[in-house]
Amino acid sequence: STPLVRAVGVRKSFGGTEVLKGVDLTVDPGQVVCLLGPSGAGKSTFLRCVNHLETIDAGRIWVAGQPVGFTSRGGKLHELREREVARQRRGIGMVFQRFNLFPHRTALGNVVEGPVRVLRKPRREAVEEGRALLARVGLADKADAYPHQLSGGQQQRVAIARALAMRPRLMLFDEPTSALDPELVGEVLDVMVDLARDGMTMIVVTHEIGFARQVADSVVFMVDGAVVESGPPAQVLDDP
Ligand code: ADP
Ligand code: ADP
Repeated sequence: STPLVRAVGVRKSFGGTEVLKGVDLTVDPGQVVCLLGPSGAGKSTFLRCVNHLETIDAGRIWVAGQPVGFTSRGGKLHELREREVARQRRGIGMVFQRFNLFPHRTALGNVVEGPVRVLRKPRREAVEEGRALLARVGLADKADAYPHQLSGGQQQRVAIARALAMRPRLMLFDEPTSALDPELVGEVLDVMVDLARDGMTMIVVTHEIGFARQVADSVVFMVDGAVVESGPPAQVLDDP
């Protein structure tokens, strides 16, 4: 099948420092790829490039066959304007280490915001879907709670529901459990396991080796801006 994400020779520098040194990565539809590696390896930067939160210096990334940040007209690539980039980005859901919820909106309000304002869905329809998504992440009874009334794990589950409300074909997770108290990690990972079983295509930056072993179709190990090993979890994680 056609890969949902294909990255070839991705390079990115900040100032004079190259933090991505030619990264190749392929994700097939329905696959879960875990990006592992030490802090500073460039994992987060790579995810941000896939979602066009950073522009790349060299190489190319395609999502669903479309070159990220470009459109092809008459066989030539043209750089997208900002609003076109925003449209391209809509198909990608992203979950960050910090939950980034709107503090003055309820859980349900956070989830319906995108569908109503960006997708122009009728509010009633968005609310119905929003409630179903909150139920899916185990928060049916928290629809009217504000972020500060929720635990970190609950907030992160709202953030996942909010991303899903945009009907993404790809979900990017950037250390989604790293900011959580240890006892709250499991409830977020459970939601992610459920999503993976449901066939969602996901790239997950994580230090949760157990999750990678259990859920990943492929593990990509990055060090110092480069992929040093990739393959099935049993091969990459259990090598002596
Ligand atoms: P990881 O996610 O693997 O911990 P990051 O992608 O966050 O790694 O960071 C890789 C390197 O790039 C780090 O040295 C980091 O300080 C640097 N970096 C990331 N974003 C920026 C930025 N916006 N400006 C300058 N340096 C950055
Ligand atoms: P994390 O790596 O967990 O995302 P950071 O504090 O490293 O957390 O990065 C938070 C934000 O700051 C990101 O948007 C990243 O791109 C940016 N950033 C990271 N390192 C640098 C840096 N050295 N200079 C400027 N911005 C940076």
